[in-house]
Amino acid sequence: MRKLGMMGGMSWASTAIYYNHINRGVRRALGGRHSAPLLIESFDFEPLAAMQAADDWDGIAAVLTESARRLEDAGVDGLILCTNTMHKLYDRIAVEVEIPILHVADETAAAMQAAGVDRAALLGTRFTMTEDFYVERIERHGIRLGVPDREDMAEVDRIIFDELTRGEVTIQSKRALRTLIAKLDKAGAEAVVLGCTELVMLVDPHANLLPIFDTTEIHAEAALRWILEDAQGQKPLDSTRPLAETVG
Ligand code: GLU
Repeated sequence: MRKLGMMGGMSWASTAIYYNHINRGVRRALGGRHSAPLLIESFDFEPLAAMQAADDWDGIAAVLTESARRLEDAGVDGLILCTNTMHKLYDRIAVEVEIPILHVADETAAAMQAAGVDRAALLGTRFTMTEDFYVERIERHGIRLGVPDREDMAEVDRIIFDELTRGEVTIQSKRALRTLIAKLDKAGAEAVVLGCTELVMLVDPHANLLPIFDTTEIHAEAALRWILEDAQGQKPLDSTRPLAETVG
């Protein structure tokens, strides 16, 4: 098996979902007492969230790049960033290491294409919903993304930072997400992308009005396939190739 480096803690609650998913998948594929070869750098999210709020992306890039290099030096074969938002810095981190980094947006776009979905509403942090780094990367694959109105965006962002990344799950926020998804459905959305790794704590992807693309599960599943590739003698995944080749 390949050894994967996970940059997590953003937040720890969603890193735990990745960890569970990947290990269960290895056990399912290989049986016995098999589990995933992983190195995890789990950050203290409080100072990183403060840096996001202060727009100190250079500071965050320095922290994450150092981590990526440390994991590479420690011998991992590839990396994942267990968060959508920090993919804002993907290009800056990727040029600093030789090993591949599985991009959450590319994996999500591939899952949507496989399901025949080419339009969806995106939910995530304010950074993910309003900036180009995420929407553009998905739209390169021929998919159109819409976002909720300003008020709803602010509420989703608040729930992520004030509750979910603190490990808090409330009935009120579950209801708020249900109401928002019903509103998006009425407005004509074909599907919803949970573009934040904690949102699955509030939304059940398998029991919903609309098809739900949960980036945590999609990204963890891609990481699992990547880890197992050598063991199963498969070809490298598209996502590990340069993007130009992936999108033709
Ligand atoms: N985990 C979240 C995401 O997927 C938000 C935390 C962060 O800003 O990294 O975007």
